[in-house]
Amino acid sequence: MRNVAEVQEVEGASVTAMKIGMRQSSLSGSVAEQRVQRRLTREAPGLEALCQRIIACRQCPRLVRHRERTAQEKVRRYRDWTYWGRPVPGFGDPAARLLVVGLAPAAHGGNRTGRIFTGDRSGDFLYRALHRAGFANQPTSIDRDDGLDLTDCYITAAVRCAPPDNKPTPHELDRCRPFLLEELTLLRQIRVIVALGQIAFRACLDTLKARGVPLPSPRPRFGHGQVAVFANDLVLVASYHPSQQNTQTGRLTEAMFQQVFDVARRYLDANSGQSTTG
Ligand code: SF4
Repeated sequence: MRNVAEVQEVEGASVTAMKIGMRQSSLSGSVAEQRVQRRLTREAPGLEALCQRIIACRQCPRLVRHRERTAQEKVRRYRDWTYWGRPVPGFGDPAARLLVVGLAPAAHGGNRTGRIFTGDRSGDFLYRALHRAGFANQPTSIDRDDGLDLTDCYITAAVRCAPPDNKPTPHELDRCRPFLLEELTLLRQIRVIVALGQIAFRACLDTLKARGVPLPSPRPRFGHGQVAVFANDLVLVASYHPSQQNTQTGRLTEAMFQQVFDVARRYLDANSGQSTTG
């Protein structure tokens, strides 16, 4: 494992392509969303089909109950919202070289808005950093119609349904892992993975192992800013999760978080043109 400070800065090229986003058009129905979905169906059918399968998933009884009950009960400040209340698929650029993996949708964030890291403080923190690092066209993420667009970045989670107390069980993580595995297969350009928090970090290692990527020995351990390099120069960067618990206590500052994405950017630029997740 290398620390972020050890990473050398070099120049490189970025990939820009059609973006996945607002794919839940059949459920929300704006004209803009329907246009995006038609384009996805045409240009990234595998990823679009995966997103639809994720949205329809009901494999984890505890999480299905929780996400649907939360969507019915709501919280006072969002009582006028129609909550999403379903699994939340990934979001971003199908040609992304950067994959950001979070833990799970927030009960009143992604589970409300239907887009990952959208509508909560963690998302604000994340998209500010992505915007500064050049991966997002704006620093805010409010709802699926807010115009957010990612370039060279795709965001997903270890578990796609909001879990009680933000704690998925090991079984729930196991059940949801095939979706992350499939994303890694379909997102063929991925070279850098940023794992947000220890659970996401472990989920990434387990998924890479399932994908046949040899893990270093000893197995990489989680630590903010730690970097593990795998076969084909695939890189996994560990970060504290941008939860309010971490950001409000100063455990994770904006500068610390920014450094993670600056490192990701430098690795991407250093390895442009090389092969991928295997
Ligand atoms: S957590 Fe994953 S596997 Fe479980 S119900 Fe949600 S989408 Fe399906």
